[in-house]
Parts: sequence; C-alpha cells; structure tokens
Amino acid sequence: MNLHSWIPDDRIPKIAVLTGAGISAESGIRTFRGNDGLWEGHRIEDVATPEAWARDPETVWRFYQGRRSQLHEVEPNPAHYALAKLEKSLPKGHFTLITQNVDDLHGRSGSEVLIHMHGELRLLRCQQCGTVDEKMELVHLEPSEYVTCDSCGDEIMRPHIVWFGEMPIGMAEIEEAVIECDLFLVIGSSGHVYPAAGLVNIASVTGSHCVGVNLDRPVNDFAFHEFHLGKAGEILPELVDSWIEVLNL
Ligand code: NAD
Repeated sequence: MNLHSWIPDDRIPKIAVLTGAGISAESGIRTFRGNDGLWEGHRIEDVATPEAWARDPETVWRFYQGRRSQLHEVEPNPAHYALAKLEKSLPKGHFTLITQNVDDLHGRSGSEVLIHMHGELRLLRCQQCGTVDEKMELVHLEPSEYVTCDSCGDEIMRPHIVWFGEMPIGMAEIEEAVIECDLFLVIGSSGHVYPAAGLVNIASVTGSHCVGVNLDRPVNDFAFHEFHLGKAGEILPELVDSWIEVLNL
C-alpha cells in the first residue's frame, strides 16, 4: 500500500485530528479505559453524569477539583508538540484538532485550532446565566466550598465538562472538518465513547485516509486504513515529520 496516496496532486491537503485520553498518558494523566473502566478510581456514573451532580455534588466537585489541580503538575509530551508543529506547517484552514480530552495540554503545547468537544477542566460554567470562567486560583478550596458566579451571584458553578448523556460541544464544526479532510488521524482513543468514536466512519465514507495511533487496537479498528501500534509520544513526532517532508511544507 502506498501510504501517501491520500495526498492530492493539485492542492495542499486538509488534515483533521481526534485525540483521546491516551495522548496524555505519557504526561502522567491516567486514561479511562486503561483502568478497568474507572476514571482515577471512580465509576463514570458517579462523577461524569448530570444525575451524579444532582445526587451528590460534593463527590463530583471534589473529583473535578482534583483533576483541575493536577493540571499544575503535568506537562505536554512529544505527541502534543508534534500536533502543534503539524498545524504550524500547514496554511490556515487546513488543520483542525478535535479533542475528547478535558486537560489543557494541547493548548499549552501551542495548538490553536482546537475544539474541546467534551469541555475543559480549566473552565467552570454558571448553571443559571451560562457564564464561563476559569477560577483556577480556587482549585484548593475545601470540597464543601463551591465557586460563586461573578456575573449573577449563583452559588454553585459546575465543571464545564460534557457529561455522559449531554451534547458534545462544536459538533457542526467537527463534522465539517471531518467531512472535508483528506487525512483523518485518531490518537489514543479506545473507540467506546460516541459520537467521537463514530467520526472515523464519517471520515472514511467521505473519502479520507484514516490513520490510527494507539497502544492497543481500539474497538473500531476496522474503520482505519493505516494503524500504528505503540506510544503516541514515540510514534507521532516521526509520523508528523514524514508528512511534513512528503508534503514539502
Ligand atoms: P480511553 O481512556 O477510553 O482510551 C484511551 C486509549 O488510549 C486506550 O485504548 C489506551 O490503550 C490508549 N493509550 C494509553 N496510553 C497510550 C499512549 N501512551 N499512546 C497511545 N495510546 C495510548 O479514552 P477516550 O477514548 O478518550 O475516552 C475516555 C473519555 O474520558 C473521554 O471522553 C475523555 O473526555 C475522558 N478522559 C479524559 C482524560 C484527559 O483529559 N486526559 C483522561 C481520562 C478520561
């Protein structure tokens, strides 16, 4: 198979990338599926659903404050930097990075056209007026202390996270990027969480070359044309450099 047959003869290609928890594993943030379906020791139903927030906000809040404060202890790894380098090598409008991750490592490594489809740990959202605010200086509050909205005074801002059962952010933009791309790259995702896991099928039927990078085979591996098994931080820098070279960027 010619691995570069996806490159158009007459124009610079468009590339869309979807990342999952696996890309941040080498930065020290634990994945979800890698741990028997637990996220840092918690069942998803207990910390990542609107029902859990309604039933036991203190447990959910403590969990997300822990994830928020962990952001101060981790750094982007070579896989994050490789994607930022690929974006900078392409003309504007030719690269879109879609992430399921709620950490901030893509932004901190220099990625700019970035869609956080499952929200962002750095942000809190007011349930009354919709104001979104960082409040990262308040990550060490007591678990029973919540953050008040500066705009309307509501006393409990929620994590700006898309919980299971809620609508992902930016789906129209995401679908457009996936349909238009020549190359669709998926990194560090187990393929269990929809609609993210279905994007490779959209890319494939609309004619994109679909490349996967993962430690082990995801459940939707049949949808990929090319697969690289191994650690993202080891595979991505070389893969990106090979594309930059063959595209003469
Ligand atoms: P997942 O945890 O279900 O799957 C991660 C995949 O990454 C696994 O298949 C694993 O084999 C692979 N992996 C582990 N280490 C790797 C490495 N070094 N290189 C390449 N691949 C590696 O992740 P998902 O599919 O993104 O779904 C989990 C959900 O949980 C997402 O919605 C996400 O929002 C959330 N989550 C986010 C984070 C984060 O922001 N870093 C962490 C945990 C969970």
